[in-house]
Amino acid sequence: MDIHEYQAKEILAGFGVPVPRGGLAYSPEQAGYRARELGGDAWVVKAQIHSGGRGEVGGVKLCRSEEEVRSFAATLFGRQLVTKQTGEPGKGVYRVWVEGASDIAQELYLGFVLDRKTERIMIVASSHGGMEIEDLAVEDPDSLHRMVIDPAVGLAEFQARELAFSLGLKGGQVAQMVKVLRACYRAYRDHDAMMVEINPLVVTRTGELVALDAKMSFDTNALYRRPEIAQLRDPSQEDARESSAADNGLAYVGLTGDIGCIINGAGLAMATMDMIHLSGGEPANFLDIGGGASPERVATAFRTVLTDTNVSVILVNIFAGINRCDWVAEGVVQAYRNEGLTLPVVVRLAGTNVEAGRKILEESGLPIIAADTLADAAEHAVAARPKLAA
Ligand code: ADP
Ligand code: MG
Repeated sequence: MDIHEYQAKEILAGFGVPVPRGGLAYSPEQAGYRARELGGDAWVVKAQIHSGGRGEVGGVKLCRSEEEVRSFAATLFGRQLVTKQTGEPGKGVYRVWVEGASDIAQELYLGFVLDRKTERIMIVASSHGGMEIEDLAVEDPDSLHRMVIDPAVGLAEFQARELAFSLGLKGGQVAQMVKVLRACYRAYRDHDAMMVEINPLVVTRTGELVALDAKMSFDTNALYRRPEIAQLRDPSQEDARESSAADNGLAYVGLTGDIGCIINGAGLAMATMDMIHLSGGEPANFLDIGGGASPERVATAFRTVLTDTNVSVILVNIFAGINRCDWVAEGVVQAYRNEGLTLPVVVRLAGTNVEAGRKILEESGLPIIAADTLADAAEHAVAARPKLAA
């Protein structure tokens, strides 16, 4: 789960990371008021969306007057910002952060990620901040320093100092960097984070280290024990189909093809998507209905898949262990009756109560295309698509 920049800054500041003073606004007027409240003569106004790369697309601006703060904020509210990371249709701006402008001497990159190879938290840092890490890795890979943290020891002071030196920091900045590194590590560990990123972490003209941007994302499987993090969720930043599916106990991920998939188990769903590709088709989504799915949940799965207007055929692939094929079949019939379904539906059932399931489908008299194997199902689905106009 992702959170906003201002929320990440608040968490990191709580662990001792220096951040600029700022305030949140829900309207242009409030943004202007925040600038006055903060004082000074230069402010940075920042669209709060769950994405980086905002600066490049006009989501971040240095403003020199209260009026400029207000008028720039007015252009942000309600806008869909499309960044390199969001893709189309972008993310809506409903909150704006106003903070005091810093006088930047140098921009650094600092990231904490989970390194799956070593199964440990890894720090990635570079003396060339400001750019996104993906670009840094391509354009200046030699500037990247990596350090793995031993969970039994935590981030040792000497390690943090070593990293600070390798970034070229000197004197008092080394001590500040050690403090920032240890704070980020604690914030990561204590909140079950998956990622902490400060980009840029700047050195100001007066030699202070300040986090000008901050990003955190969290392990969804750990949210049950982090209620204070779970409440930071912002549904306006999520794919509406994915969040409504999650609320119904379905794991749904929208894709770009036209074959709607309803499958049980993440592994089978992945295998089915591979088979669709092999047969020359493109899946419209990943959808795992989970174990013990009731007919109602199957019908909800249909409804979710049908919200995608690109879908031209639906493929149901169930290998029932905990699930029951008869319940799934009832769900398919319900969906046909209640959703006014007109698209072709290919169904492959195997496992618990498969005979009963097939019987329900046959007796329903509905135009369901039955398939025996996974390969069969994928081929039928590809063949059942309406022929595209040449
Ligand atoms: P994003 O990564 O989404 O583009 P950032 O918060 O990193 O957004 O802002 C983009 C750039 O704007 C930063 O790299 C930095 O140069 C500048 N910037 C951001 N906040 C401030 C600030 N408080 N003072 C001065 N410059 C800032
Ligand atoms: Mg940034």
